[in-house]
This record gives sequence, C-alpha cells and structure tokens, in this order.
Amino acid sequence: MTDFKKDFPILDKEIYGKQLFYLDNAATSQKPNLVLDTISDFYRSDNSNIHRGVHYLSEISSEKYEKARQKVCDFIGAGNPDEVTFTAGTTDSINQVARSLEPVLKGNEVMITGVEHHSNIVPWQLAGAKLRAIPMDFDCNLLMDSMEITAKTKLISISHVSNVLGSVNKIKEITGIAKDHDIPVLVDAAQSIQHLPLDMKDIGCDFLAFSGHKMYAATGVGVLYTSERFSDIMPAKGGGGMVDRVTLEETTYLDPPLKYEAGTPHIAGAISIGAAIDYMQNIGMGRIRKHEHEVYSYARDRLLETDGVTVYGNTEEMCGSISFNLDGIHHYDTGLILDKMGIAVRTGHHCAQPLMRSLGTEGTVRASFALYNTKEDADMLIEGIEKVRMMYA
Ligand code: PMP
Repeated sequence: MTDFKKDFPILDKEIYGKQLFYLDNAATSQKPNLVLDTISDFYRSDNSNIHRGVHYLSEISSEKYEKARQKVCDFIGAGNPDEVTFTAGTTDSINQVARSLEPVLKGNEVMITGVEHHSNIVPWQLAGAKLRAIPMDFDCNLLMDSMEITAKTKLISISHVSNVLGSVNKIKEITGIAKDHDIPVLVDAAQSIQHLPLDMKDIGCDFLAFSGHKMYAATGVGVLYTSERFSDIMPAKGGGGMVDRVTLEETTYLDPPLKYEAGTPHIAGAISIGAAIDYMQNIGMGRIRKHEHEVYSYARDRLLETDGVTVYGNTEEMCGSISFNLDGIHHYDTGLILDKMGIAVRTGHHCAQPLMRSLGTEGTVRASFALYNTKEDADMLIEGIEKVRMMYA
C-alpha cells in the first residue's frame, strides 16, 4: 500500500520536537489535500447561498451541493438522492429522527445496544422513550437470541461500530429481525462509514446517520439517510428553504430532501463530504478495508502480547478503535505521557458511560486508526506504552 500520509499535510507536523503519530481518528480524522483544496476553492471562487438565487454563483454552488448529495447517495447505495439529507453531524441526525418520531416514541421503547455513544442514548430519552439494550457477553458480542422485543418497541437504534471497542455489530442480522416485527432501524454509522463499504439496499435500515469530520471531510456537517418509506415524517426543524407555502395559519413543505434542510446548510461542508468520498473511492473501499484490517489486527495483537495491558472487547469483526488500560496506571496519565512522545490518543469514557460501567472501568485509553496509519504507528504506540510502564515500574 502506498503511503497515504503524504496526502494529509498535518501528519508531517512535529509536536514537542517529535514526529506526530495521530491515533485519535475516532474523535476526528485528518483531512487530505483534496478536501482542503475543495473547501478553499469553494470559498475563493464559488461561494454563494444555494437554491435561492437566480445568479451565476448561486447556480454553481447549488449544482456542487446537489452533486455532493448524489455522491453520498451512490456511496451508501441509497435508492435516490432524495433519501439523503445534509445535517450538522451524527448527533444532529439522530436528534432529528428522535424529534420527528417523538409522537410514536413517547412512552414507548427504543432498543439500543450496551456499547452506544451518548448521541444514541440521550435523544431518545429527550423524546420520552425508555431504553432497552440488547444483552451482550463479556467480550461485548451482542446476544441476539436474548433480544427482547416487546409491543412497546417502536425503534431499534444501533451503532454499526463501537467508538470505544471497535467491535462491529451484526446490523444485517438486526435489520432482519426488525423486519419480521415491522420495526424501523436506525444505524449510527459514525464509526463505520470511513472503514467499511455500506449499501443501504443490502443493510435494509430505515435511517443511517454519520458525520463528515470522521470520514476526512469538514466538521459541523453530516448525513441522515431516510428510506423512502419514511419520506413523509414530520420535519424536526422549520425555517427557510424547506417550505412550499407559508401563511400565518398553516405551512406546506417542499418534498424531501429540502423538507428536512431548514435554513442555510453547511454548503462547503457538504461539498467537502463529496470530495472525501472521491478521495476514498480513488483508493477503493476494498483496498482501504484490507490495509486497515492489517494495521488494526497487528496493533491489537501487539497490545494483547504486551504485559500489563488489558484490552477491552473481542468480537468476530473489529475496526477503527482499540480500548485498553495499563494495569495500575490511570488512563489519563497514560494518555498524557504518550502525548509528550508525539503519540495522540484519547482517554476517558469516550461518551459511552453505560459501556464503561459494563467494562468495570471509569475510562480507557483509546487508539483509533484511519487509512493513513501504518504498522510503524502501531510500533510507536507499543514502544510508548513500554516506556510508560517502565516509568511506573
Ligand atoms: N456516534 C458514535 C458511534 C460516535 O463515535 C460519535 C462521535 N464520537 C457520535 C455518534 C457523534 O458524532 P458527532 O459528534 O460528529 O455528532
């Protein structure tokens, strides 16, 4: 595999006089030149508001924005671009679904898993739903046979990949069960869109949420895929750009996707998602998966072989994040010392407090990998961990 680091200018950086080894990709990924140039070019030469102007720049901006929507549609195998809404990110996408479905969810139940990010917990509670988690074993494999669907279960909302453990949930199995019970499924793809090929027709979910910034695009922008069968749900937000006719008595809406995009969207951000998709597709999702799998498995095996390290979670398929702790050393101290060596990892509960409780820890150290990471990065991490252990010996 060629060295993709050269496409990401920030990865050349030195911190504290040392080469940066960036292993905090689950929090946010770095951006390739193609994305940086696309954002800069947009503001330098095309910038205008979309869909509302008759003038030249507005036409160009609208065209680029809609082209980005088409790219997302093709990338995730959606039926048509009307199923793709640009949002402010995964959190916003999930909150929008929670708001739209609130009349159905209030007083009922949403089925989640025990590894969810707070973004897939709090919005349902705000909508007045009770949460029920699919049971899991010690390694965080979901125990599908013990999943208890009741008459009150109105939605299943699950992460594809855990931001803490890197465990991949078997979402096709879940959509299959959901279909038998005619329950809609939302997939939080914040940690899978950048690692695994996704095909809406194959997965068969009704909603899919992800963020631009974790897939090499801008912050503050994301996507909500809504299957055609939910195209008539109430919009979560009201404002300009989404209405057909407004009177003081009543408002009628445009058709999706504009119906769900009130206000001026993050135009440059949406276009940056298109550029990020171009970047990934130029490499090929199959090639990305193969390379990432090699690096991830190598890093995980090396961590498992290292004395005094506890690695959390162990499922059939894994990608992205690895969580661990060094015996007797606080995760925060480990992270701080690694940082001084130029190694960027994240520490804490990773917005997954219920999972931390199941793991019996307050927090973990998380190393998370992107397409530009290499086995050398994993070696640096292990070397850093050995040094931390020696400091505490
Ligand atoms: N879900 C998961 C699984 C995540 O990892 C994250 C980000 N850490 C989110 C949701 C929220 O994403 P954002 O902050 O971009 O809205």
